Amino acid sequence: MSWETVIGLEVHAQLSTSTKLFSSASTKFGSEPNTQVDLVDLGLPGVLPVVNKDAFKKAITFGLAINADINQESTFDRKNYFYPDLPKGYQITQMTQPIVEGGSIEINVDGNIKTINITRAHLEEDAGKSIHDAYPDKSVIDLNRAGTPLLEIVSEPEISSAKEAVSYMKALHQLVTFLDVCDGDMSQGSLRCDANVSIRKVGDSELGTRTEIKNINSFKFIEKAINFEIKRQIKVLENGDKVIQETRLYDSLKDETRPMRSKEFANDYRYFPDPDLLPVIISDDEMDEIKDSFPELPNEKSKRYISELKIDENEAQIVSSSRELSIFFELAVDSESDPKLAANLLVGEIGSLLNKDNIKINESNLSSDNFNTLLKRISDGTISKKIAKTVLADIWDSGKDADEIIKNQGLVQIQDESIIQDVAQKILEANPDQVAAFKGGKDKLFGFFVGQVMKETQGKANPKSVNDILKKLLS
Ligand code: ADP
Ligand code: MG
Repeated sequence: MSWETVIGLEVHAQLSTSTKLFSSASTKFGSEPNTQVDLVDLGLPGVLPVVNKDAFKKAITFGLAINADINQESTFDRKNYFYPDLPKGYQITQMTQPIVEGGSIEINVDGNIKTINITRAHLEEDAGKSIHDAYPDKSVIDLNRAGTPLLEIVSEPEISSAKEAVSYMKALHQLVTFLDVCDGDMSQGSLRCDANVSIRKVGDSELGTRTEIKNINSFKFIEKAINFEIKRQIKVLENGDKVIQETRLYDSLKDETRPMRSKEFANDYRYFPDPDLLPVIISDDEMDEIKDSFPELPNEKSKRYISELKIDENEAQIVSSSRELSIFFELAVDSESDPKLAANLLVGEIGSLLNKDNIKINESNLSSDNFNTLLKRISDGTISKKIAKTVLADIWDSGKDADEIIKNQGLVQIQDESIIQDVAQKILEANPDQVAAFKGGKDKLFGFFVGQVMKETQGKANPKSVNDILKKLLS
């Protein structure tokens, strides 16, 4: 029998605000446990939440980017449940009137574009963290994360494979980092997803029973967890059994999903409007302000790089695809440094170094200022592009200034044509057979002579002069 897969993702994006959704405690990652906890986050009686305007601004920015409807009046509800990392006994979320409704995201799967519709994106607070492995005999709780603003982005059940789910997640990652609404750091949990997966017979119009795999925090695990779950559900159905609606967790060590708890139904949470929080009204002026500060997105950037800076299409796309890279590029390029050269090095040489070290450009030793200097030294002829790669490798390790490296290692390009001429002459005299062969029609040998001159000058001879001089001497 043939089956088809239906997937809907609930993605939690941690909004990159400096303070929490309802308190002035810091949201910084990695601080000492329980040092960033306000009375509001502790849920002490007699304190009142105050909404964070920046969180709304970021949620609205996201909504505008996906062409959603923005509810200029939105409300907060309490979702009641007990858990040790939730001192209040309820989570504040947006159930009935979320800030963002509708909209869509385009994904690219092996070159095919598919649109995934978004149901809603609502604001809610994160819970604290229970830690079970710090002590042998007890569990402890860190409330630093409690109250951190999250945007929960809920998709329609329109994703049809694990691969599409990964593309969707990558598209979201790119979008939220470009909009600067979330830092996108999946290893720190800034972007994580719950995958709802069901199976049905091809042609069925009703959805099958779904399971929800909780808190998956890497692209690789999304793909693996969903693929495992698809296979498991098909097996259950083909055995004539029924899929049980439940919450499951993905164990990456065993590469399997396991039941966590049977799925709560919405009424278990006894949602009700939070009496401590008035509806939030966003004025038209505030909306205009947000629209005015809307950032340039990858597609627009790429088009601008091609038309204004004359960058190759492929390179423009790569440089504009990541926020860090495009910022770095734009900072490094000015009237004296060549944008084409910059893009070329970023995609080629620097791209390989980044891949090798598995880091982002802003985590490397190369600053945009130093890259700017390096570009200028290539353009003004101080060093060749080949030598630039040596300098780059040194900066990569040491972080030293490009000019300092060029000076200390004597890498300045040989411009003096008489020096190059002498070297070329010597090379030709030392290789009479090759010279004869070249003159007899073996044109390819020209590259050999160029190579020998470059070798003799340790790559420092100006390549154009070498070519010109050799041509003259061999004619
Ligand atoms: P809940 O909030 O209880 O998890 P929702 O109805 O809000 O449930 O749906 C959450 C997510 O599950 C959405 O992304 C939705 O598209 C997806 N979803 C709902 N039903 C199914 C199904 N049968 N198969 C796959 N995904 C589903
Ligand atoms: Mg859910």
